[in-house]
This record gives sequence, structure tokens and C-alpha cells, in this order.
Amino acid sequence: MASPSGGATKKCVLHVDEQKVSADAEIILFQESTLKMCQEAQKVHLARTRSKFKTITLPLISNEVFGYHSRRYKNFTAVSAQEKFEASQNVDEEQTQSTSSQGLAMALPTGINSYTFIIV
Ligand SMILES: [Zn+2]
Repeated sequence: MASPSGGATKKCVLHVDEQKVSADAEIILFQESTLKMCQEAQKVHLARTRSKFKTITLPLISNEVFGYHSRRYKNFTAVSAQEKFEASQNVDEEQTQSTSSQGLAMALPTGINSYTFIIV
């Protein structure tokens, strides 16, 4: 008896919410290179204070089950080289920095007195 080829159920690991997927949206299996891209992007997402991607679990190696929708892949890997670098350096330091930049973000919109906050 011949086993059915291509019958494995592919799973999109980048789908974290209930967002609709069009019926013809194909799940693309991870290649080593695309998986590596996602693993690097994941470090950035994990370093962020808030990220809806934090719950994503990537496969350790590419296989015939785990893949992604291309649109999701673009969203997930949309991180800058700088962010990747920082995420790979020191996660603790990254968290400290994001805390202080949050303080700035709150102070800046007030305008005139912003400098006071920046100096502190
Ligand atoms: Zn998906």
C-alpha cells in the first residue's frame, strides 16, 4: 500500500491570534534559513516589553509539519538589524533600556518641559 505523499498536516506556528486566513493561503514549510530568521526575530520579540509574538514556539529544526503563512512571516521578521543585535547582546540591559525609554515617551508629548525629563 502506497503511503499518501504530501498528506502531512502542516501547521502555521506564527499564527497567534484569530485573524482570518484566506482559504488559499498556503503554509510554507520552514527552510533552515527562514527558520533562522524567525529564531533571531523571536529573540527581539522576547526582549520587548509587550509583544503578541511572545507566545510563539518555533520548531528547533525544519521539518515537514511546521511552517508559516507568508504574511505572518513578514510581520514576525519585521525587526531591525539593530534590534537583533541588541537582543543578542544582553537581555537584562535591554529591559532596563526599554523601561527608561518608556519614561521618555510619556514625558515627550508635553513639549516644553521635555528637556528636564531627558536630563534626568
Ligand atoms: Zn498562519
